[in-house]
Amino acid sequence: MARTHAQWKQFAAELNIEGRAFINGAYTSAADGKTFDCINPANGQKLADIAWCGEAEVDAAVKAARAAFDSGAWSELAPLARGKILKRFAALIREHGDELALLETLDMGKPIGDSTTVDVPGAAYCVEWFAEAIDKIGGEVAPVDPKLVGLVTREAIGVVAAVVPWNFPILMASWKFGPALAAGNAVIVKPSEKSPLTAIRLAQLAKDAGIPDGIFQVLPGAGEVGKALALHMDVDCLAFTGSTGVGKLIAGYAAQSNLKRVWLELGGKSPNIVLEDCADIAKAARTAAGGIFFNMGEMCTAGSRVLVHRKVKEQFLAEFKQAAQGWYPGDPLDPATSMGAIVDKIQYDKVLSYVDKGISEGAGLICGGKAAHTDKGLFIEPTAFDCQRPDMTTCREEIFGPVLSVITFDTIDEAVRIANDTEYGLAAAVWTSNVSTAHQVARRLRAGTVWVNCYDEGGDMNFPFGGFKQSGNGRDKSLHALEKYTELKSTLIKL
Ligand code: NAD
Repeated sequence: MARTHAQWKQFAAELNIEGRAFINGAYTSAADGKTFDCINPANGQKLADIAWCGEAEVDAAVKAARAAFDSGAWSELAPLARGKILKRFAALIREHGDELALLETLDMGKPIGDSTTVDVPGAAYCVEWFAEAIDKIGGEVAPVDPKLVGLVTREAIGVVAAVVPWNFPILMASWKFGPALAAGNAVIVKPSEKSPLTAIRLAQLAKDAGIPDGIFQVLPGAGEVGKALALHMDVDCLAFTGSTGVGKLIAGYAAQSNLKRVWLELGGKSPNIVLEDCADIAKAARTAAGGIFFNMGEMCTAGSRVLVHRKVKEQFLAEFKQAAQGWYPGDPLDPATSMGAIVDKIQYDKVLSYVDKGISEGAGLICGGKAAHTDKGLFIEPTAFDCQRPDMTTCREEIFGPVLSVITFDTIDEAVRIANDTEYGLAAAVWTSNVSTAHQVARRLRAGTVWVNCYDEGGDMNFPFGGFKQSGNGRDKSLHALEKYTELKSTLIKL
């Protein structure tokens, strides 16, 4: 039965939180004993001491990963056997679902209702999906000279480092380690310093499921840990989700070291276009509010730019304002809360500085515009600006908070031009009642995902997820994700 607000608070008070790194099958403090504080952004209270890993831990983990990979204890298991262990891992994630959801909510401020229904089940589903896929895909026999047999196979890359962000900590990590483990690799997860708790807890569950020592390791710490992994000569692949700025650094680190494979899932400034012939403006407005306020707007796919046709703008804004009221922030541990706290003070100040910028540049405030109940933690009101020009700062830069910019247009061509006029290309949406217009606009939008008459649909693992342009390369989710964690091999046998 679902827990009440009081029961979640009670559970939180009883929780024993692990903060050490997980290296070669055991929890380990940093060699120099350094730690950092893990803070609950909803009330400023300290949750745990977290190991502050550095190069010594990176070296130890990479060494253990290499030895475990080379031993074949994982990579040479029959895919069916590997799949069975991973399914056990997924089952353990579900079994410990409330605990993991609570850790996620305490750590980064997201509503418990989301952690229990989106993040944790999503991670279990991802691991299970790749576990089930791995014994159902094979290689190819190439059509070559009849005196040859030409095999095209995929094999594990080796040591994969996954450097992940704080907005969906367990989910983003699982999108990397799910396919990477299924393909037979040894994986080192580097969670964000802002939200390390679920990754650390998962390590024990992976071991309990039967994943061999050295195959799943977790190194909490600052960006320096990610940098050391990206520069390491014995890491074969670096899978990254985070900001475009750090993504560029990581590509550089790979170039400076061993040209490890680098896969980047980066930022976004996604356009959500409401055309004049949208059949249900109220629904488009409600969905747009969810598209920007879900997860406190800390979403790579946040629909942070609404492009609305001048003729339907007034109705849209009236409906949007009403919908925004339903996103007023509350205690993340209350199951009735729809929007929680901003992850930390740095992000909170950044978001509020963008709000100030919007106001000082003259954008019209539609709703919100300031901090909410400041005494209790890092909360910001759901905020939206009516922007006179698409080149205003809040229309162009990724804010990663609950701040929407509304831009008005008069023609479809103008809307498509504004939508594509960005360095990003992660997602986009269009609202129309004309099926031809839907296809035509979807084709013209330069983005990895396009939604029509919806936003953020597709928890389904079958869809590849990733970006065009500076939103990154490669794709998470779907069988295409396995391409990131495997090398193609051609084997030619002379008959
Ligand atoms: P970030 O780039 O600041 O940090 C991401 C990770 O990289 C963290 O673990 C961090 O410690 C590490 N890191 C920091 N500096 C590093 C360095 N020099 N070398 C190596 N690693 C380093 O991003 P964030 O603030 O954690 O996350 C927000 C960003 O992530 C947003 O831009 C958002 O759009 C993006 N994001 C993208 C997707 C996607 O799938 N495209 C999904 C979620 C978030």
